Amino acid sequence: MQLVGNRYEFEGGITPQQLVEKYDCPLYVYECSVIKNQFLRMRNAFSLEKLKINYACKALNNVNILKYMKQLGAGLDTVSIQEVRLGLLAGFDPSEIIYTPNCVSLEEISLAVKYGVRINIDNLSILEQFGHEYPDYPVCIRINPHIMAGGNSKISVGHIDSKFGISFHQTPHIHRIVKANNMKIEGIHMHTGSDILDIDVFLQGAEILFQIAKEFRDLEYMDFGSGFKVPYKEEDIETDIEELGEKITARFRDFCTEYGRELTLMFEPGKFLVSQAGTFLVRVNVIKQTTSTVFAGVDSGLNHLIRPMLYDAYHKIVNVSKTEGRSRIYTVVGYICETDTFGVNRKLTEISEGDILAFYNAGAYCMTMASNYNSRYRPAEVMIYEGKDYLIRRRENFDDLLQTQVLCPVLDEVPAEH
Ligand SMILES: *Cc1c(COP(=O)(O)O)cnc(C)c1O
Repeated sequence: MQLVGNRYEFEGGITPQQLVEKYDCPLYVYECSVIKNQFLRMRNAFSLEKLKINYACKALNNVNILKYMKQLGAGLDTVSIQEVRLGLLAGFDPSEIIYTPNCVSLEEISLAVKYGVRINIDNLSILEQFGHEYPDYPVCIRINPHIMAGGNSKISVGHIDSKFGISFHQTPHIHRIVKANNMKIEGIHMHTGSDILDIDVFLQGAEILFQIAKEFRDLEYMDFGSGFKVPYKEEDIETDIEELGEKITARFRDFCTEYGRELTLMFEPGKFLVSQAGTFLVRVNVIKQTTSTVFAGVDSGLNHLIRPMLYDAYHKIVNVSKTEGRSRIYTVVGYICETDTFGVNRKLTEISEGDILAFYNAGAYCMTMASNYNSRYRPAEVMIYEGKDYLIRRRENFDDLLQTQVLCPVLDEVPAEH
């Protein structure tokens, strides 16, 4: 969404007001053109024939978005068997889907074998069980390079105490298990966490991975995960994807020469591809002035967009109903009966009740984390594709809230006399 003159517009000149009129509020809007830009930026940053960008669909899992990713040429990174099924439903070939679970049962991993997708194992115990059960099924191994990175402790997953990956200190154990079961290791993987800014962190991790990769002779690919940072605030710096591409490409080529075979380089970005493609539209229900603060209370809350409360994430907010005139300072809050503050002391053009506010960067980890807390409906989703808007998830209704509840018959019986 961009400010064009004095009005906000999506791709194709569609305004937020038009969408709200058509689909009501609160509403998630995704622009395919932004996803495409990010995808091409990433693809062009790496000048390698064998490059595969696997979209991490936990960021935004609407099947239509997955289909669009497939159209762009992406593969899919999945973390649950349900995401695997969504990917298959969206038309991905099993070979284009990589399944990277953490702390799931061997039963679930067996289902992934049944579906025929690529499997990434991040635990010695599971590697051993898997090798015993499926010695002929090639797997990838997730290594923990113990590199501290990431925006905050909840999303930093590569450090020493992290539950993710097999420590690179444990490679002798990996070899013992692989040898004992005659397993084929087709890939080596790392994913150090979200919000990595420093390219040197990536390169350090990559060096550790190259060291380990040398010792496995059946490799087809190396997967460097994700963690690419996008700007949320105006002054935020983003991962310099072009510089990273240049450096990794050169180093990867050298490695492949040394290894004796050309491998595929894989990445699995979520946020980088979809964060900026999303905008969340809400309506201001009330303005509430206290002695010290002016609150703008909107028709949404932590049930729809929890990142500010869960991660202290900053989402830029604008008043799309009024783009000119004087500004005031607002604290934007939700309608949930719990403190759900979206933004403190934000300078917005003066808000009237009924105005529409827009949240930026609402593509990644927003709708996928939404819940029915307070028995509220989850928002609808709209995709803008080639300048036209399409409803891709309808708004929920009261029946949806009850759909999985089962009425217990004894509670409907007439109480016995006492
Ligand atoms: C979440 C996740 C990603 C995507 O991370 P982003 O920060 O959204 O790019 C990639 N790989 C794995 C294994 C993940 O769990």
